[in-house]
Amino acid sequence: MSLKLDGKKLSLEIEEKLNNYIYINKTMAKRNPGLAVIRIGEDPASGVYVKNKEKACSRVGIKSFIFHLKDTVEQKEVEQLINKLNLDKDIDGMLLQLPIPNKFDEQRLISYINPDKDVDGLNEQNIGKLVKNESAMRSCTPAGIVNLLRSQNIKIEGKNIVVIGRSLLVGKPLSLMLLNLNGTVTMTHSKTKNLKKICKEADILIAAAGKPNLIDSSFVKDGAVIIDVGIHRLTSSEKSKPRLCGDVLLGDVIPKVFAYTPVPGGVGPMTVTMLLVNTIFSWQKQFGLSSNLNDLLP
Ligand code: NAP
Repeated sequence: MSLKLDGKKLSLEIEEKLNNYIYINKTMAKRNPGLAVIRIGEDPASGVYVKNKEKACSRVGIKSFIFHLKDTVEQKEVEQLINKLNLDKDIDGMLLQLPIPNKFDEQRLISYINPDKDVDGLNEQNIGKLVKNESAMRSCTPAGIVNLLRSQNIKIEGKNIVVIGRSLLVGKPLSLMLLNLNGTVTMTHSKTKNLKKICKEADILIAAAGKPNLIDSSFVKDGAVIIDVGIHRLTSSEKSKPRLCGDVLLGDVIPKVFAYTPVPGGVGPMTVTMLLVNTIFSWQKQFGLSSNLNDLLP
């Protein structure tokens, strides 16, 4: 039987540790950790993600500050808000909920975030440290995936790992983290030729293409580990409830693999948990608290 890599279960276990950590250390720090989330516009999925982050923060004892801006706001005003939050002593972490409307220069906004508060790990300085394999804030989805693999002692060193996708949010940082952990990594994208052949060589196959059910069993080697990052809401008719699926046709693939992540309940919950880890990492650094979080930041 294939092993389910249960991100929901692991995220709850990590949250319990984080909760204890805050409880023990908040007297010394004289305040709880704080996370600021900037949302621009009315993208409904972003609304759900921000709510989930807010709930996760309150479960572990992080104070959240939500800034929901109208899409009529100017780039300069968002930059000023980021600068203000950079200086705010009650805020340890800050993120810009993506996607934001096209009129904004997303990369410029991210580069305004103080790297020490950049809990999404997307600022150039944190990406640079990842390239150099130096300790820093790590982007949440890739770090969550590495923790999920480690939690079941799935070896990364020496394995052939294929990552489908090369985005700044997932594919690139994930490939670098796995490379730093001595995996042999192939990063693929929409212009890759013979994708199926490349995927069939993978001991660990990670699908982050954002294409529903792209990967069926014909892409997968017997006994491989498959990680599904994609998340899609499919509706068959206007009346029916939307159904969640990933980039992997799981029913077809599961009988063939050693381990897999479900959708939902795999990578998604780990992404939120890593955001909490990064926020607490920044808080403990600020107050010189002893750390037991470093192992969670690959
Ligand atoms: P993205 O920015 O759209 O990037 C998609 C990547 O996949 C691109 O590099 C693209 O190649 C590549 N690609 C697209 N179609 C392909 C194909 N047919 N074959 C091979 N490569 C292909 O998306 P993203 O932000 O990385 O996110 C990917 C998926 O993960 C989305 O479904 C997103 O919703 C999900 N996601 C989930 C979580 C979570 O917590 N569960 C977090 C983040 C993202 P090019 O570069 O050539 O265009």
